[in-house]
Amino acid sequence: MGRIIVLDEQTACKIAAGEVIERPASVVKEMVENSIDANATSISVEIKAGGIKYIRISDNGQGFESDDAILAFDKHATSKIKRAEDLEGITTLGFRGEALASIAAVSDVELTSRTESAGNGIYVHIKGGSLIETGTSGCAKGTSFLVKDLFFNTPARYKFLKKDHTEAGYVANALENIALANPGISFKLVSNNETVLQTPGKGDLLSCIYSIYGRETASSLKEVKYDDSSITVTGYISDMQATYSNRNRQIFFVNGRHIKSKLLTSAIDQSYKTITMKGKFPFVVLNVKINPIMVDVNVHPAKTEVRFAEESKVFEAVYRSVTNTLFNYVQQTIPIVTKQEEHVINTFPQRKLPELNKIDFKTYEKYLTVKEEPKAENTPVYEKFEQIPINKEPAITVNEITENEPEEYQNEDNKIFTDCTIIGQVFNTYILLEYKESLVLMDQHAAHERIMYEEIRRMVAGEEPMEQMLLTPINIELSPAEWQILKNNLEYFKKFGIDMEEFGTSSAIIRSIPAILSESDILSFVLEGLARIQKRGASSLYSDETLYRMACKAAVKANRKLDIKEIKEILNKLSVLKNPRTCPHGRPVIIELTKSEVEKRFKRI
Ligand code: ADP
Ligand code: MG
Repeated sequence: MGRIIVLDEQTACKIAAGEVIERPASVVKEMVENSIDANATSISVEIKAGGIKYIRISDNGQGFESDDAILAFDKHATSKIKRAEDLEGITTLGFRGEALASIAAVSDVELTSRTESAGNGIYVHIKGGSLIETGTSGCAKGTSFLVKDLFFNTPARYKFLKKDHTEAGYVANALENIALANPGISFKLVSNNETVLQTPGKGDLLSCIYSIYGRETASSLKEVKYDDSSITVTGYISDMQATYSNRNRQIFFVNGRHIKSKLLTSAIDQSYKTITMKGKFPFVVLNVKINPIMVDVNVHPAKTEVRFAEESKVFEAVYRSVTNTLFNYVQQTIPIVTKQEEHVINTFPQRKLPELNKIDFKTYEKYLTVKEEPKAENTPVYEKFEQIPINKEPAITVNEITENEPEEYQNEDNKIFTDCTIIGQVFNTYILLEYKESLVLMDQHAAHERIMYEEIRRMVAGEEPMEQMLLTPINIELSPAEWQILKNNLEYFKKFGIDMEEFGTSSAIIRSIPAILSESDILSFVLEGLARIQKRGASSLYSDETLYRMACKAAVKANRKLDIKEIKEILNKLSVLKNPRTCPHGRPVIIELTKSEVEKRFKRI
């Protein structure tokens, strides 16, 4: 007896907008979710030409009853719900009965499948929605779908597909996410005859993370374990050091379903607020388990968003689970303060939000921040002034002490950088200058960013050498999705001075880097580049944005003490530029406060 029924019109109408098959990755996601719903423990995906020409998905799940094989391709045919009420508390990944119908309508699909008890397997061939052939097949228990020539009959959709390797990257990405949500299932992805992803399927999330992101990432993570009786949160997160420039490595699951959620990302942002720099994002793989009744999964066509009945509870659980983990980590590394503060710190993560007052938050935040801002950086401002030879030696005019005189380019406006007097540095971030009748504040990062940006432009234009050979090559580990993109775009990175070679199946050896970047900036620069290629294609790498990013990485950071020589060098380099007064993003490099403005503040005039 078959298990699949066709939902009646009324039920079908209550299900949110139809499944959208946009690209090979959508086919893989839907098919693999079906395999998971069929209790498979081993799922393999093979693609060719990024999946546009060929996708094979094979599982060892429960298989199709012979009555079901053709019916399954009907619209709204599903074995997972019978009526709309079943949607409440649903635990399967699928429920709309639309995926197979939508896929078969736009491609050439062959299905072979056998249940445990059936003597023979079944075979069905459907192309462009029409039945071509049915029959029996001798096959192992489980199901195998072969999907060929996606969008062969819908040229409009075909046109929107990206290059093969970009599509292959999307497929790898989709499978990575599903694999992380299901460490108990072994996944394999083969792309153009090369195995690009393989997870052990032993039930252990860390091994699964290791097989996707490599040893270095996996070994730097902290385990999250949190249970407050109605919600459990488990997974792994990075400590304060490991940070990325985008959220690509923040992955959330709710009851085993990979979702995007503003609520959860903001809980993460809150948790890391005091310990990561702005624009930096931690690595996060978190699994939220909650009574399915409390989650509505029927809100998004691709099922990638959910709605929580009690948002604040979920937020709090995630916030606490992460701060608990970070907090324990900090506790091992930093000695504590007073008894009273110690009490606040120790009880903070366990206490309920309404019980906590402002002082508790402050103490706790201060505690988390200690590691980020070592004592030396917190020395009072007046001490910093002493280190600049303003009192001991006469103040210096840049021109006097410049070893190499600036080049020809001089306009009247730029004199501010050459004819000024350096007063000192404040907040480890701003340089104070006196020029004519003004007090000038210069943002050291913005200034240096402008300088670096101009240098990079000359390098990319071939006017100056960019590359610097490394004595010891750097090895970077990439996820299968990133790897797919990288190996097809090596020459683009070469233009920016990064000479890479494939190494093994998911890492690369870097032999040279742009002279202006340090080795520690390279991984994040490459990852950002890959994310940009995936989003907007390889040509986007040539955009100004890449130059900005590189300039930003190369520039001295705020919060760094500069010595007089470094300050001089910055002023000197600015003085020969055409646009020294703004950073490449358009923020000001200097602010002038005129003498009369100062006098007004003092009510002298
Ligand atoms: P849904 O997953 O929403 O039920 P689909 O169109 O994806 O709808 O699949 C239709 C039905 O086909 C499923 O309900 C399930 O019974 C069956 N099915 C699909 N894939 C598999 C598989 N790999 N193994 C066993 N049954 C499957
Ligand atoms: Mg499905």
